Order: sequence, then structure tokens, then C-alpha cells
Amino acid sequence: MALDPQLLEILACPDTHHAPLTYDADAQTLTCTECGRIFPIRDGIPVLLLDEAVRPADAGGVGAGDRGGVSQPSGAEA
Ligand SMILES: [Zn+2]
Repeated sequence: MALDPQLLEILACPDTHHAPLTYDADAQTLTCTECGRIFPIRDGIPVLLLDEAVRPADAGGVGAGDRGGVSQPSGAEA
């Protein structure tokens, strides 16, 4: 079920910044472009509630590619 593009245009994050949302058709979610919260879409209806949103930090570490990698060597003094 595709979300109406016109509906997507008027949707905004319920947080104070009211940033636009990015629609993920595969996951059926809306992602805030400002705070990164992920809002579910249930039966084609976006659930734009902060209580229902998944924050990136709560998403089980998915996409946290910057942590635990190779750290910069600290001995590179000029
Ligand atoms: Zn937001």
C-alpha cells in the first residue's frame, strides 16, 4: 500500500522542529529528517506519535557503523 504523496507532503514530525519526513515504502515507516525518529505506518495510516516513534538510539544498534571500528592512531604528530 503506497502512501499518498500529497499526504506525505503535509506530514511533519510531531516534535517541536516539525521537520519533513522521509517515506520508506519497504519498511512502511516515516523517518524524520531532523531527529531521525522512525514512525510506523499502520494500515496505511502514519502514526505520528512521539510515544510510538523509534529513536535511532533505540533501534538495536542498526546503522551505528561509526562505533567499534578502527580508531585513528594517536601517534601521528607532525
Ligand atoms: Zn523529528
